[in-house]
Amino acid sequence: MDFQLTHEQKMLQESIKKMVDRDINPILRAHDPDKPLTREATRQILDICQPFGFTGLRLPEEAGGVGVNALTFGLMKEMLPPVVSFICGGQETTAVRIYYGGTPEQRERYIPAILKGDKLGSTGSTEPNSGSDPRAIRTRAIRDGDHMVINGQKVWASNAAICDFMLVIANASEDPKGPSKLIRIIADKEDAPFVTRKTPTLGFKQGNLGEAFFDNYRAPIRNVVGGEDDASAQKVMHQTWLVQRPMMGLLAVNMAQKALDSAVQYSRERVMFGRKIGGFQLVQQLLSEISTAVTTSRLLCYYALDCIDKDINANQLSAMAKRYSIAACQKAISLAMEVHGAMGISTELGLEELYRDVRMLPIPDGTNQILTLIEGRELTGISAIR
Ligand SMILES: Cc1cc2nc3c(=O)[nH]c(=O)nc-3n(C[C@H](O)[C@H](O)[C@H](O)COP(=O)(O)OP(=O)(O)OC[C@H]3O[C@@H](n4cnc5c(N)ncnc54)[C@H](O)[C@@H]3O)c2cc1C
Repeated sequence: MDFQLTHEQKMLQESIKKMVDRDINPILRAHDPDKPLTREATRQILDICQPFGFTGLRLPEEAGGVGVNALTFGLMKEMLPPVVSFICGGQETTAVRIYYGGTPEQRERYIPAILKGDKLGSTGSTEPNSGSDPRAIRTRAIRDGDHMVINGQKVWASNAAICDFMLVIANASEDPKGPSKLIRIIADKEDAPFVTRKTPTLGFKQGNLGEAFFDNYRAPIRNVVGGEDDASAQKVMHQTWLVQRPMMGLLAVNMAQKALDSAVQYSRERVMFGRKIGGFQLVQQLLSEISTAVTTSRLLCYYALDCIDKDINANQLSAMAKRYSIAACQKAISLAMEVHGAMGISTELGLEELYRDVRMLPIPDGTNQILTLIEGRELTGISAIR
């Protein structure tokens, strides 16, 4: 058993860190921290991230992607500022969901354009009355000749507010009261326009989380991905979630690491009662708790990703890694703010931004409760979800 990253893995993380400091942070800093990034800035960021493969990390090389394994995916994403990770993720996850099950024509039309950032994509699953339960999806997609007519609303979708197209998860059942029959269908503004809107949120204020409205929207039948098959839509969603969950945990680790670094530095400089506060035992206790959270979270996420790579059933671990890490890192960021006294809540140091941003992470790709129930189901063989 080797807990150390290889030389190559360390170099990879280091080169991404340099790219973020040199090329991405100046773009983020040049924009109002409380306003969503423009399409231009988003595309600029994608241009910078693309040579590193971030828009196609899990796509196979023959599709123009990098085809990295789950652990490398996590190691790379850990180094991105979370808002940038969501920008790239909106592209990459949508590409993966189109590639698997997509026709050659769909792959040709969308994959290169997503990889290059020429088309901004989004995946719309969540609805006002369907979040944790995808079977409650009510957006209807009913065939009419050579079109699918879509009616419904998608909410909380990453990049929705600036997307060129959305991969919509819809219910194709003719019987609205019968069991749902989920399909994936591409709604492309190039085929016909639809309305999208930014949703203001507590954190990730520079992101473009938003909603989309479909009112008798006509999508060509060729835009149905993977056929009218409930199972394939759910399977693709499940496979992407499995890797996304520990990756989300690593985004929290990225934030908590920043908070830890800031707290350690501050405790070495700040003088109170004539002593550096880092010399007080209670401040050292805060630092050690923060550091424990960062280390255990990071290791658990790496372990879950490694299990996925080794084809070991990771349903429980993947859920545990996200739930545990985000909770631990949320607490760690709060403790790091405590080390800074009032400076912890000032906008000057950016800790309050981390505090708001990390609060966004327990929600997507499985809430804490859903993840707990997945873990319980794996342990007992009994589902308590529905
Ligand atoms: C940053 C961010 C990015 C996102 N990106 C996307 C995206 O790209 N595309 C997309 O479609 N959606 C996206 N979402 C939406 C996200 O997937 C949903 O918000 C999430 O699935 C939860 O759904 P909900 O908000 O409707 O909560 P609900 O499902 O209504 O849950 C409300 C509460 O009830 C609890 N609960 C629900 N069911 C159970 C149960 N069976 N047992 C116990 N407790 C339960 C939940 O844990 C939660 O505490 C994103 C959200 C965020 C915050």
